[in-house]
Amino acid sequence: EAKREGRNRASSFSWLFKERFNRVHEIETGLRRAIEGQELKLVFQPIVDLESLHIDACEALLRWEHPTLGPIPPSEFIPIAEGMGIIEDITSWVLRNACLAAASWPTDARVAVNISPASLKSAELPGSVIAALLESGLPARRLELEVTESIFLDDSGQANTILLELQRIGLRLALDDFGTGYSSLSYLRSYRFDTLKVDQSFMAGVSANAEDRAIVRAIGNLARDLAMDTVAEGIETLDQLDHARDAGFTNVQGYLFSRPISCEAVAALIASGPLIPSEEPPIITYPR
Ligand code: C2E
Ligand code: MG
Ligand code: MG
Ligand code: MG
Repeated sequence: EAKREGRNRASSFSWLFKERFNRVHEIETGLRRAIEGQELKLVFQPIVDLESLHIDACEALLRWEHPTLGPIPPSEFIPIAEGMGIIEDITSWVLRNACLAAASWPTDARVAVNISPASLKSAELPGSVIAALLESGLPARRLELEVTESIFLDDSGQANTILLELQRIGLRLALDDFGTGYSSLSYLRSYRFDTLKVDQSFMAGVSANAEDRAIVRAIGNLARDLAMDTVAEGIETLDQLDHARDAGFTNVQGYLFSRPISCEAVAALIASGPLIPSEEPPIITYPR
């Protein structure tokens, strides 16, 4: 009896393993095709000025609809692309299309692009950035690159060199997901980031936890004294919005204002003036 159960468990384990393996394999083969074909697309989420409620910038977020597996989240396929060594191709596709989109918007709202740590160590990145700016005609100051603290982990100085080169071109740099993982205040001393994006896990806790409120306020004060813009990520409720305001943040981003939406939909939103926060976002009227 025990033996049979053991065998069942072993076979269901190997079944799960095979499923997982097949999925990764399908994603790998699909990714190469996706970059060349029409399967990747960008959606844009507004980053709103906390005082005027105007859209200062929009973050470009990658979407992939696999023909048989359906939508695959970037958190799943970006690490796979890094492992395959094709993240450069994805990054330059995203840069190009994000800059072309922003060049079509009715104001000089910036576009923010996520750059994975692997890309930041590649000498190809500055070339991809310059090509995207030249093709779209977007001024460099309207492009912001979002990087995470993990780029400093195995610092061989490579990321440093490339960051400085990008700043010389005139781009803005944002430190994304601040406060998670490998936070060290020394990064804020050695690199001049224009924007600090406080991770949504802190904002998720501000209504219930005094600890999260204290951390968010401390980050707000620090960033203000260092003359950095501050974005509170993942704002879903009016109460979280109040806490971001109390902490002295300059900007907010989250479902309370808008989900990530198509380039055309975000252009219309930019043109329509200040964004009114709503705890029941009209999800259905915005194509995602
Ligand atoms: P991120 O850069 O921190 O992006 C913010 C994530 O939070 C996005 O998830 C966004 O849809 C989600 N979000 C925004 N507002 C809210 C809210 O109010 N509540 C909740 N619960 N979530 C909210 P998404 O699009 O799934 O992206 C996940 C991560 O994947 C991103 O985190 C980023 O690290 C990465 N990613 C996305 N697009 C790209 C890309 O083009 N290149 C690279 N390298 N990474 C990307
Ligand atoms: Mg980001
Ligand atoms: Mg983030
Ligand atoms: Mg985040």
